[in-house]
Amino acid sequence: MLPVTTDSQWQLVDKEKSKLKSTASEKVLTNFVPAKGTAPIPKNTESKKRKAENDVDIDITKKFPRSSTVSKPRGLLWDGDNYSCAYDALFTVLYYIWKDNKFMWNVNARHLQSQHLQTLGTGFLAASQGTKSLEEVRDAIRKTLYSEFPHIFPYGHEGTSLSELTQKIFSSDVKISKSQVTCTMCDFFNPPIDDETGSVYVMDKTASKSTFHTLNTSSQPVAELCPECQSKMISRIHYVHHPGILLFDHSVHTIKPSKNIKFAGTGNRLIKYKLQGLLYFGNFHFTSCIISPEGDVWYHDGMTMDSEAKSQGHTKFMSGEDYQKCYGRKLVMSIYVKS
Ligand SMILES: [Zn+2]
Repeated sequence: MLPVTTDSQWQLVDKEKSKLKSTASEKVLTNFVPAKGTAPIPKNTESKKRKAENDVDIDITKKFPRSSTVSKPRGLLWDGDNYSCAYDALFTVLYYIWKDNKFMWNVNARHLQSQHLQTLGTGFLAASQGTKSLEEVRDAIRKTLYSEFPHIFPYGHEGTSLSELTQKIFSSDVKISKSQVTCTMCDFFNPPIDDETGSVYVMDKTASKSTFHTLNTSSQPVAELCPECQSKMISRIHYVHHPGILLFDHSVHTIKPSKNIKFAGTGNRLIKYKLQGLLYFGNFHFTSCIISPEGDVWYHDGMTMDSEAKSQGHTKFMSGEDYQKCYGRKLVMSIYVKS
């Protein structure tokens, strides 16, 4: 199929990419850029537009101030009759994220048209108001999941797959990513098509170095050759809508979680994500770490602790490798929030 745009637009997209590289002090995800062939922003309006968008971001923060009561996070207590640690670990982090930024949570749940995220938001509100416990919120969602998939979400002394749980909680019929086949040698490209990649990004054997690096370098070879130059072609994925919460499943392949991830969005705009949660697995049990937007790290184990999370210090004293183990357990999930 013929490209739908001209060469000059191509170059504009490339110029935007290189400009981002040189102006940003930190690395930016250049792979997950807007599709080639989509309309670029005219160059002379870029700086104005960027300023205007920054102003909008500031306004949102002012209108929806972050709660000051989030300093001591609460975690869920383990159910020894019906093993609940997968739910406890994930919901402990999600409750903190909800509490810290309800506006983002609601916008994200609405955009994804996610029943589970909306139900969780309503439940978290009840928990924060004291009309329900976090464990009751957990048990209600668990009941729904069990009724739909009894073998995946069992009761009793059986483990639950955190990967399956996360996939179900964040599943959505709304497509937020596209994949695009491009030639590795010439300028040929196919139009982007809808992709299944959603809020959860699964790390497989091709993952390398860090969450950031993996996203930035991810591409799949495709069988067909370029119709114009007969060279190899690759397929790359990019988000057309950046979800409020982005999760990396490390259970198959452990990778260092980057503290920050930045995407090059449309119109030279930076889309930033901050690492805010880490989930661990070992000895048939899941635990969690919460990271506040200010960098305070908190640990919670619903089986051995009460509901209060324990301070672990600050991220400035930790390296990326420090996040990969926690009290002998291995990192299986990293959770990022769009800032
Ligand atoms: Zn080619």
